[in-house]
Amino acid sequence: MEALLSKLSEQQELTAEEIVWFLKNLTPELKQQLYGRASEVRKQYYDVSVYSRGLIEFSSYCRQDCLYCGLRRSNLNAERYRLTEEEILECAVEGYKLGYRSIVLQSGEDAFYTEKVMTSIVRKLKLFFPDTAITLSVGERSEAFYQALYNAGADRYLLRHETASRTLYESLHPGMSFDNRMECLRILREIGYQVGAGFMVGLPGQTHRHLAEDLLFLKEFHPEMIGIGPFIPHSATPLNGAAGGTVEDTLVMIAMARLMVPDALMPATTAMGTLDPSGREKAIQAGANVVMPILSPLQIRSKYALYEQKICMGDEPEHCRSCLEMRIAVSGYRMEFSRGITTDLTYNYKTVSEYFHY
Ligand code: SAH
Repeated sequence: MEALLSKLSEQQELTAEEIVWFLKNLTPELKQQLYGRASEVRKQYYDVSVYSRGLIEFSSYCRQDCLYCGLRRSNLNAERYRLTEEEILECAVEGYKLGYRSIVLQSGEDAFYTEKVMTSIVRKLKLFFPDTAITLSVGERSEAFYQALYNAGADRYLLRHETASRTLYESLHPGMSFDNRMECLRILREIGYQVGAGFMVGLPGQTHRHLAEDLLFLKEFHPEMIGIGPFIPHSATPLNGAAGGTVEDTLVMIAMARLMVPDALMPATTAMGTLDPSGREKAIQAGANVVMPILSPLQIRSKYALYEQKICMGDEPEHCRSCLEMRIAVSGYRMEFSRGITTDLTYNYKTVSEYFHY
C-alpha cells in the first residue's frame, strides 16, 4: 500500500486496478498520509492560497431530469425563480465590492436564457469588471452558444462529467447522452475556455471501479478545474432513500485527484460544508484550494435546492466572505481574491441602473 501511495505521489498516476486495490485497502493511517501528500503537492503549486469564486445561482428552472437533483423538471414541488439581467449584475456588483475577481453564473438548464440574453449579461459584466474572470455553469448547450459566450467574454466553464462510467451515467440521466456531455467538454476546451469537470461521490450503484474511471478520466482530460462533492439525496427525487456520499470518501477522492492532476483548481464544495460543519476545511487539508461563496440574493437562495439543508442560506454575502476568510485563516491558509488584485472595500461603485438605465 505504501508503494502505491509513493507511486501516486511521485509518478502522479495509478492504473485502474491499482486505484481499486488502494481504495479497498485504505486504513485510517494511510488516509492521513494520503491527505498529507495531497496537501504538500497543493502547497508546491499554490502555496497557502485558497482562491475565491463568487457564485450567482440565477435560475432554478431546468429542462433536464437528473435523478439526483432537486431542480429536476419532474420535481413539481420545487420553487422556481429567474433573476433578471439587472438582478444578476447587482449580485456581481456586490461581489466586486467584496473583492471577488472571479464570478460564476450557474443555473439549471433554462432555455429562457438564450444566447442573446446570456451574451448581453456577459458583455455587461466584462464592461463593468474587465479584471474579473467570468465562469459559466449552465449545462449542455450548442457549440454556437458556447462560442458566442466565449466571444462575449466568458473565460471559464464548469460542466461536471458527473460520472465517467457510461452505464452509471445513463442510469442517472434519463433522456441525456453520455457522449454529448463528453463532447460538450471537448468543444469547450477547443473553443478556448478554461474547463471544469468533476463528479459526485456516493451515487447509488457507484463502485470503486467507477471512481477509478473518474480519476483516470480527469488525469487524461486534465481540466483546469475539478469539482468533487458528495451526493446528498433530496427527498423529492427518486433517489430519496439512497445512502448518499460521505465526507471521508469524498476527501479520499479530492486527495487522489490532487495527486493525479497536481495543478488543478479544486473547490472545497458547499456539499462538504453541508454534511459536516468543518467539511470545507477538511477538503482544504486534503488538497482543495478554492471556495465558492454564494452571492445570490437571500430571498431566492433556498430555492436553488440541488439538495436540502444547504448551508449559508441566510447569510449576507459580506458575512459569507468574512466567515470563509476566517475559516481559511484558522486552517493556516490565505484567502485570495484572484488575479492578484488587492481588495478595496471603500470604493463606491455606481449601481447597475445608473450605468445602463434600466
Ligand atoms: N445545470 C448545470 C449546473 C448543475 S448544478 C450543469 O448541468 O452543469 C451543479 C452540480 O451540482 C451538478 O453538476 C452536480 O454534480 C451537483 N449536484 C446536483 N444534485 C446534487 C445532489 N443531490 N447532491 C450533491 N450534488 C449535487
